[in-house]
Amino acid sequence: MTEAAGLDEVHHIIEAFTGRAREELADRLKKWPLDLAKRELHEVVGALLARQVTLASQLAACPPIWNGHIAPLVLRAMADAYITLAWILKEPLDRCRKFIHYGLGQEKLQLEHRRAEMEAREPHDGEREYCDAVEAWINSQRATFLTDVNLGSWSGMSTRDMAAEAECLDFYNYVYAPFSPCGHSMWQHIARYNLKECRNPLHRFHWVPTVRDVPLDPDYLYLAAKYLQKTFAVFDGAVGIATDIESAFDVLCLGLDRLGTAGSTAQPDEPPGVDYGNGKSGGDE
Ligand SMILES: [Zn+2]
Repeated sequence: MTEAAGLDEVHHIIEAFTGRAREELADRLKKWPLDLAKRELHEVVGALLARQVTLASQLAACPPIWNGHIAPLVLRAMADAYITLAWILKEPLDRCRKFIHYGLGQEKLQLEHRRAEMEAREPHDGEREYCDAVEAWINSQRATFLTDVNLGSWSGMSTRDMAAEAECLDFYNYVYAPFSPCGHSMWQHIARYNLKECRNPLHRFHWVPTVRDVPLDPDYLYLAAKYLQKTFAVFDGAVGIATDIESAFDVLCLGLDRLGTAGSTAQPDEPPGVDYGNGKSGGDE
């Protein structure tokens, strides 16, 4: 395959995947009978499903970010959304309300910080209007004076405990946790991706900062599709919905197989391996 034909094929695979992901979401929403007495359930769960489709599609559409610098940021957000959804679905209505309540409390807190900060200076153009609009958005769901601010986690427990309760501790251990260092720019990530060995032998091989070019790896797209599939599956199981259209995940796998790249570097549930080459060669002591 020529380079141009290869790029064309990648483009087709991306379009097929993102298109099917939207169709899969639409099919499920169509089959999920709306119960307005449980509107929070439909809003939160539906939005989390749509969020996963959005994240997977955005990653798919941007091949330049299929690398260890950026892709884990997206995949970690998908892992977060998956655990949130899986935990919510164990006691859906109550947990959806808690989720909304916490989010509104956080929004109210930020609004108060901003207004307090504005008191000491002249507001920028439109700043007051912006604050009023945020307040109106909160009030449209729940009056601001009723929205107490909870400073803990929204669920009242750690993500690990949520994952354990939602029976997806493996997902936490092998997906959520390994992608966290990139998401939080922790040492174990930046040492590998943003340091290289100094070549001056008098410097005892210390490491110096670098902005590394890293190769693209379609496996990151494969993982995004896999987490999307897991998200749909946990929803289907909890809500009792079956869809008969071929999944976006399968569509993607077929496409990647044609390109000969599926599963190139990673185990199914694990992030792609890191190339230590430029960052740490001979630098373990
Ligand atoms: Zn040096």
